[in-house]
Amino acid sequence: MNHRQLFLNHLGQTSEFPLLLEIERAEGQYMYDKEGKAYLDLISGIGVSTIGHRHPAVIKAIKDQVDKHLHLMVYGEFVTSPQVKLAHAISNLLPDTLNNVFLVNSGSEATEGAIKLAKRHTNRSKIISCHHGYHGSTTGALSIAGHEDLKHPFRPLLPDTHLFRFGNHEDLDQIDQHTAAVIIETVQGEAGVRLADVDYFKALRARCSAMGTLLVFDEIQCGFGRTGKFWAFEHYGVVPDVLLCAKGMGGGMPIGAFISSKDIMHDLTHDPILGHITTFGGHPVSAAAALATVQVLQNEGLMDGVQMKEQLFHSLLIHDRILGVRSKGLMMAVEFESFEFLDKVIHQLLQDGIISDWFLFCDHSMRIAPPLTITTDEIKMACNKILQAIDIVSP
Ligand code: PMP
Repeated sequence: MNHRQLFLNHLGQTSEFPLLLEIERAEGQYMYDKEGKAYLDLISGIGVSTIGHRHPAVIKAIKDQVDKHLHLMVYGEFVTSPQVKLAHAISNLLPDTLNNVFLVNSGSEATEGAIKLAKRHTNRSKIISCHHGYHGSTTGALSIAGHEDLKHPFRPLLPDTHLFRFGNHEDLDQIDQHTAAVIIETVQGEAGVRLADVDYFKALRARCSAMGTLLVFDEIQCGFGRTGKFWAFEHYGVVPDVLLCAKGMGGGMPIGAFISSKDIMHDLTHDPILGHITTFGGHPVSAAAALATVQVLQNEGLMDGVQMKEQLFHSLLIHDRILGVRSKGLMMAVEFESFEFLDKVIHQLLQDGIISDWFLFCDHSMRIAPPLTITTDEIKMACNKILQAIDIVSP
């Protein structure tokens, strides 16, 4: 049996139509299959390879750490240098009220941690999240997902979860003195890159503060430089009580975090003791890779070029069949008339050596979220191929 057959027979599947690409290695903006064919990665493995695949600084940090130790002890007991340095580096990039980093393994786990923290801290159970929001696939995170199709076969899920409209001022009234947390993406990702305005975030912040509700920003997809600032909330001048990150954080290694003040986070240490625990949270190798990722983002000026590259995409992606382009930095959605049409474009692009995708809750928009290291020539080439692919598959 070849690898594809083994994949289909022995690996748990997530859909009946996986892409089935067999990639052997990856470097920078490119992945290479067994025959050596190069694919330009226009989606960064869904928001992960923000600084490119196998960034040399990340590889070095991983190798150095592997030579010292792997896992030693469950999270929260031993003092290990990769975790300490990472938490310190992240705290330095945040306002003083976000100075305490709880390391986990993934985005979903960061969400779970935030839900528990908010309940424990406020002694309330009501959680509000947004229609078309996505915060992960574990049961708690799924409970606050903004799309019923994904949820209904798994009900009953967490009780007292409520949805309101992203960016809608009127719905802010739903935040009341029973609300433990509002959990919201600063830029909605799986909804197909949806933005809310500064006034909305200010009003949301004010309402949460007035009601004693924790405001949780999910920056698992939009954080770590993706929008051109280290944190997406920097665009809005509004500081959350809890911040979630993962995906791009590890430079290709699995890691996530929920971040808050030392004061709020303290609630997880008592009544009950061990309020949130994880064996592998902040794995030393992942933490070392994440620290290198922070340093690369800070030192290599990768975020400086984001706005110019975003504008370049906008200026080149002009075609009758493109109905619009939404973006915040290099987090972009190109809208088409239907999933059926976009699906053909994506498959044509795959043949042409370009990896793109649609969104979980917006299957008629193409996802563009390349490594920030993508060059202007590569953007021109990719946009050319997108326009050609549209022509080829157009009836
Ligand atoms: N929140 C957001 C905004 C995400 O985009 C994702 C992943 N797509 C998650 C949470 C869940 O992260 P993970 O898949 O690492 O559990």
